[in-house]
Amino acid sequence: MCGILGITCKNCPRKSEAFYKLMTCGNDISHRGEQAWGILTSDGKSMFCHRDEGRFSEGITEKKAAALARKMQGGSGLVHTLYSTVGKGGKKQPKNIQPWTANFHGKPFGLSYNGNIYDLSLLRNRAKERGWHFVSDVSDTEVIVALIATSQQADFIEALKEVLPMLKGAFSLVILYDGKIIGVRDRCGIRPLCIGHNEDSFILSSESCAFYPVNAKFIRQVRPGEIVIISEKGIEKYIKWTNDTSYKFCIFEFVYFARPDSILCNNRSAYYYRNKAGTILAEEAPVKADLIISAPAGGDIFAEAYASALGIPLRQGLFKNRYGIRSFMAPRGTDRRKLQRIKSHPLGEVIWGKRVCIVEDSIVRNSVCPETVMMCFEAGAKEVHVRVGSARIKYVCYCGVDMSTSKELVAANFSLEETREQIGADSLAHISTEGMIKATGLPRENLCLACFDGNYPITPPVEMT
Ligand code: SF4
Repeated sequence: MCGILGITCKNCPRKSEAFYKLMTCGNDISHRGEQAWGILTSDGKSMFCHRDEGRFSEGITEKKAAALARKMQGGSGLVHTLYSTVGKGGKKQPKNIQPWTANFHGKPFGLSYNGNIYDLSLLRNRAKERGWHFVSDVSDTEVIVALIATSQQADFIEALKEVLPMLKGAFSLVILYDGKIIGVRDRCGIRPLCIGHNEDSFILSSESCAFYPVNAKFIRQVRPGEIVIISEKGIEKYIKWTNDTSYKFCIFEFVYFARPDSILCNNRSAYYYRNKAGTILAEEAPVKADLIISAPAGGDIFAEAYASALGIPLRQGLFKNRYGIRSFMAPRGTDRRKLQRIKSHPLGEVIWGKRVCIVEDSIVRNSVCPETVMMCFEAGAKEVHVRVGSARIKYVCYCGVDMSTSKELVAANFSLEETREQIGADSLAHISTEGMIKATGLPRENLCLACFDGNYPITPPVEMT
């Protein structure tokens, strides 16, 4: 899961106008990837890029920002925030940090990508035969860039139309070429991408929350199978790169990834889902407890709605360090489970002697929830119950979310009762898949639910079949 963003501005009052706008808006997609980030600007002739490890803008002082602004001129540009689902545990591949850049018939273009392209060997070989020398062994982004750069089509959009049907998987792209930003979505619109504008700029972003700081308004989503070309004057053209389309939006964006203030699919926000899901969860799996507490911050909206529907007080029983912790700050050997203890602390004054119910957004691996339950018992809870705002995740995702092996998924390997025992809770219940669909307010056929029900919207990779 990554964040992608592109901006094009007209009548730029400053030469570094796009840089400052990208820095402002990029901050609002930083939650989508904290491993690395990159920013690219163009003055129409040249491109200027800065890439770094860590969270968006981490380590950028005022002085460094001013120096970058002097270098990164132009009225259009891209941002990428990286959450890598490839190349983990192997050698470090700094070239994976996006945006990527290359030339198309001598003219530079930049590309930011969110998703997962699979069955890559054929495509890598095709690009190699066309003369591309790969710098990364694992980057699917480089494969897309290589195929565009080596296309023999005379026109950039024609090259894109030639390459996109070759890509198997889920993807959203924002491309910078010739001073224009180009938004692309896969045939099922699995990963998000939307368009916004204010009086002097047009923006493409993974999430609409990035529009707010520059007072831009949401226009619409980029549609499945669509290419949208935007110049400084506005939307120049939108075309279909395929007619074989259907809407299968990733429901996990509603559950976990997206910010609650983002409009995701058919004008539904992540807040809408979480609020509804909390209420439905209360109908499907009520609890006898003295207090509802959220597993912060993902469980907050679910917990609010759940508590309100049951008429049970909602209290802050777990305090989350608002500045978070980077994994390198934790003592050596700290696993996900122990990291949870470092990230949030129980409030004994709230929990002691009480029957508490923790509301979580999801349970993927059995790493975080057992520690949260134990922390509540250690703080003196009499009973600890767990309720979850998404169904059990039984199947892997190959569409860009870091759930790629079934052995890591607790629900793929253990029954609900076994999971409850491992978590150490007095009771455990999830919202049903039907309840989740209802909470989106969208028809089932517009959603990808594959990690919950195993019905994949696009053909699985060869290695999975
Ligand atoms: Fe989203 Fe799950 Fe579908 Fe992956 S399998 S795209 S996480 S709904």
